[in-house]
Amino acid sequence: MIEFDQDWSGAVDLITQAQSVLLIAHVSPDADALGSALAIGLALESLGKKVQVSVGEPGFTVPESLQVLPGKQLVVAPEDLTPVDLVISCDTSSHERLGVLEDTLVAAEHSIAIDHHPSFTGFGKLHLVDPDAAATAELALELIDLLKVDLTPEIASAIYAGLATDTGSFRYNSTTAYTLQIASRLFEAGIDHAGLSLELFDNESFAAIQMLGDAISRAVLSPEAVSGKGLVYTSIALDQRYGLTELAMERVIDVLRRTAEAEVSAIFKQGDDGIWKGSLRSKTSVDVGAVASELGGGGHGHAAGYTGHADLPLMISELQAALAKA
Ligand code: 5GP
Ligand code: MN
Repeated sequence: MIEFDQDWSGAVDLITQAQSVLLIAHVSPDADALGSALAIGLALESLGKKVQVSVGEPGFTVPESLQVLPGKQLVVAPEDLTPVDLVISCDTSSHERLGVLEDTLVAAEHSIAIDHHPSFTGFGKLHLVDPDAAATAELALELIDLLKVDLTPEIASAIYAGLATDTGSFRYNSTTAYTLQIASRLFEAGIDHAGLSLELFDNESFAAIQMLGDAISRAVLSPEAVSGKGLVYTSIALDQRYGLTELAMERVIDVLRRTAEAEVSAIFKQGDDGIWKGSLRSKTSVDVGAVASELGGGGHGHAAGYTGHADLPLMISELQAALAKA
């Protein structure tokens, strides 16, 4: 069992001593991963440090869906990185999710992992890990406060993006009074809340909306699955993607999970390499994080994912078998 330790004073010491810092968000970054990295990056830059932010995907650039995040000038593709004194991973539960930057973190003399996944595997020399945090962005803000950096509108916006997306706009049960207190501080810091929400939640291309409708129309409901609690699932193959990138499929689960007859929702997304990825969501009683872990991935109790293989019917039967045991 991994201990979820939080060595705040150790982290502040390491950061204070470092002149150059690399912040890494997980591959296929979401707003919490990249937002936390950019928020900390902007804070460290204001302390006079040389900051690079990256994602372990060759040639990485910030995707269209995350262009609203401030601090994008700090982003460097992994192949263009220069050596640093300290490496910090953000929102990454297992080292494989660091992609091509896995060795960079593992080999670093000084490294910190900041995360909120119960499936955190314990990599990194020092940890700021709290599975009760609603988002890694909560922990990022705590660190920024400890570093005594002023909460600028830019830093606040990056934190807010992580907080709002990981909590489903403060709807999921991970949301706490503390989450809302932080949100209040971010408003006071001068974020453009409506503008950020528009970009993060209500700004998809017509092709993405058509792909969504298509995927939803193919959904299958199995009311008897998960011991009668119900499963709803759909899939998006490469040729059902309307020419869009892998990231465009991320939001489909947000609609599918609204199905009243199903405790668990799942979407199978075919990657550019032909390999299928599973995304799982549950509403109350089922721990899909444990299910995803059994299938080689991880995540949270109510939101989790894993990478499978190239055979869709097998993906579906493997998930049904894992859920039958859940
Ligand atoms: P999503 O379904 O949105 O891709 O991911 C939901 C949650 O599961 C996120 O917290 C994400 O970090 C985690 N997750 C998704 N895919 C994987 C995976 O392949 N491995 C691990 N360890 N976690 C994953
Ligand atoms: Mn997160």
